[in-house]
Amino acid sequence: MEEIKAFYKPFSTGKTPPGALFSAKKQGLTITAYKSGKVMFQGAAGANEAAKWGTAAEAAGVKSKSSGSPLPPQFSSKNVLGSDEVGTGDFFGPITVCACYVDREQMPLLASLGVKDSKAMKDPEICRIAEKIIPIVPHSVLACPNPKYNELVAAGMNQGKMKALLHNRALSNVLARIAPTRPEAILIDQFAEKNTYYRYLANEREIVREDVYFATKAEGLHLSVAAASIIARYKFVQIFAEIEHELGMTLTKGAGAKVDQEAAQIIARYGLDTLHQYTKEHFANTDKAIRLARK
Ligand code: MN
Repeated sequence: MEEIKAFYKPFSTGKTPPGALFSAKKQGLTITAYKSGKVMFQGAAGANEAAKWGTAAEAAGVKSKSSGSPLPPQFSSKNVLGSDEVGTGDFFGPITVCACYVDREQMPLLASLGVKDSKAMKDPEICRIAEKIIPIVPHSVLACPNPKYNELVAAGMNQGKMKALLHNRALSNVLARIAPTRPEAILIDQFAEKNTYYRYLANEREIVREDVYFATKAEGLHLSVAAASIIARYKFVQIFAEIEHELGMTLTKGAGAKVDQEAAQIIARYGLDTLHQYTKEHFANTDKAIRLARK
């Protein structure tokens, strides 16, 4: 706050609204800082000006850990290829990974379209934003169909390796799409230690290694990961709706008790093989559903 105050001192309006620390006007923008720690940037270029001071998550002190190298300074305003996944904890539906490239010029537009950490958003909002950004950001979204997932798990592959393979492929797809442009950095929302991640990729033909960073809660560190997370969720929600349509019933996300009930209904109506087609078979939900279906 001291830094912000000092920066805008030359532009001070001399008037401070109630509860405010200072108010400044700069190139058609009004910047007002409050004692609560909130800073408002009002005007057409508000999002752009605010981005100079980092992301909202950074400002809110969201803690994120990174393994391997720490992120370079001013990371949130770099041209970054980011990736994230969804669907890993859901019994129904596929693991879905998205990689997305966001450069500096696109940031104000994405921010104005509502791109932010999707953990704070509900599915309808995520889907509305996704439909607006899908045509404008270079991205690759990959979903591992449940039958394929079950086959790989049966062959001994763990979820971490599956995620690593999907992240790596999505990243390399986007790199090919945006070439000869190179991102200044690549940020993966961390699900494994760096060494583990690359061990999982040992047999891959193409491995994305250059300028790769890992951090948890990365949706709050760069808009590219926030956008990737939104697009991945959108894709997952679409596939989830297709599954509901095919089975002719409403299903619940996650892996809770309601999911067990719905899975038991699927067994009763269509048999266990059909359940496997749409679920992550190795989850404990399978056994619970079988027991419920016997009752
Ligand atoms: Mn994630």
